[in-house]
Amino acid sequence: MPQINITPTNPPKSGLRRRRRLPLLVPLFRLPGQLTTSEIRVRVPQPLIAISNGQLIHTAEDSDYKIYHWSQEQRHPTYLMTLAVGDFAEIQDQWQGKPVTYYVEKGREEDARRSMGKTPRMIEFFSDKYGYLYPFPKYAQVCVDDFIFGGMENTSTTLLTDRCLLDERAALDNRGTESLVAHELAHQWFGDLVVIKHWSHAWIKEGMASYSR
Ligand SMILES: [Zn+2]
Repeated sequence: MPQINITPTNPPKSGLRRRRRLPLLVPLFRLPGQLTTSEIRVRVPQPLIAISNGQLIHTAEDSDYKIYHWSQEQRHPTYLMTLAVGDFAEIQDQWQGKPVTYYVEKGREEDARRSMGKTPRMIEFFSDKYGYLYPFPKYAQVCVDDFIFGGMENTSTTLLTDRCLLDERAALDNRGTESLVAHELAHQWFGDLVVIKHWSHAWIKEGMASYSR
């Protein structure tokens, strides 16, 4: 299995602000209807955390590094593979015994709960309304700096822009974050579980996610 080694050119200083371009190339199928299981085994300098699709099946310490081995056993489109690495705070929640986790820049733990804390109730609601229980072994949301979209619904590991994190004052009149969280979560059923065959069908999954929020 190919392994990914992440070697920072600079040691992390200010949480997620220090963005690095990684010299990685992972050849993937391009069409959304081509499905596969996937595994990512990555070695990162501590204290960075690596988050990816599916279940964390193994971790190991290797001097100043830590190895994370993630495995996505349910077949999914390769465009939904992801790897997020950062000096994150990890906030743990759960739904029916499955881990629901929020990763944010350290110091923003309260904002994480304020912004994403309704996720377990949303999973419950969607599971009920769709008549199909949330299908993946965990659900993680990772808030990253300088993200080009609002969110990306990678299988079981959504990436969100850190602009969605709300402090107490911003939360008073902001409903956009909740909508974003619901939209990306709905994609776990529409787009990730039930996939589209071709990009020209993207309106189906986007339409369902927009309707759901
Ligand atoms: Zn969408």
